[in-house]
Amino acid sequence: MANIEKIHCLIIGSGPAGYTAAIYAARAGLKPVLYQGNEPGGQLMLTTDVENFPGYPAGIGGPQMMADFQAQAERLGAEIRSGFATAVDFAGGKRLVEINGGEKMIEADAIIISTGASAKWLGMESEMRLRDCGGGVSSCAVCDGFFHRGKDVMVVGGGDTAAEDASYLSNICRKVYLVVRRDEMRASYMMQQRVKSKANIEILWNTVPEEVLGNETVTGVRVKNLITQETQDLPISGFFVAIGHTPNTHIFKEYLEMDETGYLITQKGSTHTNLAGVFACGDVQDKTYRQAITAAGTGCMAALDAERYLATKAVLAAH
Ligand code: NDP
Repeated sequence: MANIEKIHCLIIGSGPAGYTAAIYAARAGLKPVLYQGNEPGGQLMLTTDVENFPGYPAGIGGPQMMADFQAQAERLGAEIRSGFATAVDFAGGKRLVEINGGEKMIEADAIIISTGASAKWLGMESEMRLRDCGGGVSSCAVCDGFFHRGKDVMVVGGGDTAAEDASYLSNICRKVYLVVRRDEMRASYMMQQRVKSKANIEILWNTVPEEVLGNETVTGVRVKNLITQETQDLPISGFFVAIGHTPNTHIFKEYLEMDETGYLITQKGSTHTNLAGVFACGDVQDKTYRQAITAAGTGCMAALDAERYLATKAVLAAH
């Protein structure tokens, strides 16, 4: 087994939550070490312009914003490392983290988990290509809907997120197609009613997208009706995928309390998990708001909670 490196404050994950935790922890003298994970910068790396994060009056590109977060954390003394937490051992009060499949083992006095959640995608080649080039495929209506104001867009999914995204987009776009693969939606009754009451939302039941059309930007979508097998091309400029997120929590399953969909459970009004010295912030513990600003807010909370925990531990150890 690799030598164990002892660290005061370990942060796992590098989205807005992780970097904000690093900024606060560094300023509090906790000498934080942050591992970036296998998607450095997190979900914002897939966003083009961020216009709703206060402090950027002209907006800012998602990747640039994350580079700024990182630079700020480093300037204040946080150590940012590339690497991926592949396993943990929290048994009996231990806080051991394996990096890169055993290349390194870390023992931390406090751990802040900010591993985020990953949007699920349909997996079509055209969808991935137009997502990666910022061509109008998105998993975040609140982030990217504004770029399609006055235009026609499509939302895929039948859950609360899809219903919420469709409602949100219907206020700024000309028309919203909501593509549902079955003849009913999974979304709550109220959310469904809201969608059905909007004149500019058209629900396409029993329908799936077959291909996103366009070379550099989305120009339309080919959809297929699963009952009739008929296909049609619908011209749109924005394609929003809302088929759920997966929180990145599988390595913690044995030790940390999570809900039925895998989101970590924190004590109300704090970032404490069920284990002392282990804190969670950002999307990994939030399936409701999922915004950069809310993730950053809970990142701040996690660093403050970790600081108090470590201070109490030090006082107890001194007596
Ligand atoms: P869900 O898992 O609830 O819903 C996913 C939807 O996507 C389902 O309708 C599913 O269809 C559909 N889907 C999945 N895979 C595919 C696919 N390959 N092709 C087409 N459609 C697909 O995810 P949500 O993100 O909507 O919600 C997650 C949780 O967050 C839920 O508990 C929800 O209640 C909660 N939430 C609450 C909100 C609120 O209260 N304001 C807002 C947003 C979310 P099918 O039904 O056929 O499986």
